Amino acid sequence: MKLNNISLRQFRNYQALELDFEPGVNLIVGENAQGKTNLLEAIAFLGSGKSFRTTKNGELVRFGAEFADLEGQVFSQERQQSLRWVVFSKSRPRQIWRNGARVKTAGDIAGCLNTVLFCPEDLMVLKTGSAPRRRLGDLALCQLRPNYEAALNEYNRILEQKSRILKDRFECPALLEVLPEYNARLCQVGALIISYRARFYKGLGEEAQKYHYSFSGKREEFSLEYKTVSNISDPFAPLAALQDQLREHLESHARAELETAQCLTGPHKDDFDVSLSGISLKSFGSQGQVRTAAISLKLAQRELMHRECGEMPVLLLDDVLSELDASRQDFVLNQITQGQVFITCCEPGRFTRLGKTIEIENGNVLN
Ligand code: ATP
Ligand code: MG
Repeated sequence: MKLNNISLRQFRNYQALELDFEPGVNLIVGENAQGKTNLLEAIAFLGSGKSFRTTKNGELVRFGAEFADLEGQVFSQERQQSLRWVVFSKSRPRQIWRNGARVKTAGDIAGCLNTVLFCPEDLMVLKTGSAPRRRLGDLALCQLRPNYEAALNEYNRILEQKSRILKDRFECPALLEVLPEYNARLCQVGALIISYRARFYKGLGEEAQKYHYSFSGKREEFSLEYKTVSNISDPFAPLAALQDQLREHLESHARAELETAQCLTGPHKDDFDVSLSGISLKSFGSQGQVRTAAISLKLAQRELMHRECGEMPVLLLDDVLSELDASRQDFVLNQITQGQVFITCCEPGRFTRLGKTIEIENGNVLN
């Protein structure tokens, strides 16, 4: 999977940009706030319709402009393809084209351009709160399984409506009559989400274990445990069983939900826990262990996508190499000799040996 070129109009700080890329390593160099991360964001968005920085597409549009237009030629699925997105600053729905034809959803372009982002915040992802971990999993799984993405969008939509009911019911008690309907639907879609996640995290953990074993000099056994709603003992169980257990858990929390006006139970609280040779990283990991394990996890994500799609996803390394010490840098660089890679970096000349350098200044390409 390769991105041959990109064309951006009014995207973030880019007024107009046309850029060709190398099939191997592309090094994006520039001072702070010049548009390096914006360019990686554009690449990730082109393939998925999702930004790793915001859920509000309007923010992607250059200040003062009405819409942003992103286009790129990719080689994937054994052919040349083109992708195009137009997103609007106001509430107008985004538009998508694949090979010149309008398509409806991001699912219609699934598998054309998969990306894996690795940024400095990811280095601490196994130590922080659960939201960034859920986000990491969701961004990967949505690219792999369009039906998962549809289910997740549906779940979040119902959850938002339920939250509103719980908050507004003090003023309008009649709203409570529709609550059972929302709960039933949440359990139905929630069961599907859990089922997808169980399989995904199993595969991710297995891949990460291999990387980490060699990374730690065969000393540490990486294991990843998917954590979902507490009364679900087997997330691989049939959907009907998961749905029943979700309902039971919801019922036992119904009063607390009404009292706190919050949605307290469901896969929106899911998490995963990583341990090294049986010791939880979150509670006991040293900084170095946490970083090393995060690298294993990211490399695993890339390998899992490779295995599932038969093509190596595009790797986006945002400022992360310069954050690593020499031995970790070497480990990462040795593992990514295959596939297309984009590396951003502030120091000119630092990684020039790796590939083609693209210099960015204030939303423009120099040279
Ligand atoms: P660093 O090295 O600090 O990470 P960077 O080159 O990665 O810097 P980016 O995050 O890509 O920087 O770009 C940040 C710049 O883009 C900021 O100056 C910000 O104001 C600008 N910017 C962000 N969104 C928009 C937008 N919608 N319209 C115009 N400019 C924007
Ligand atoms: Mg940046």
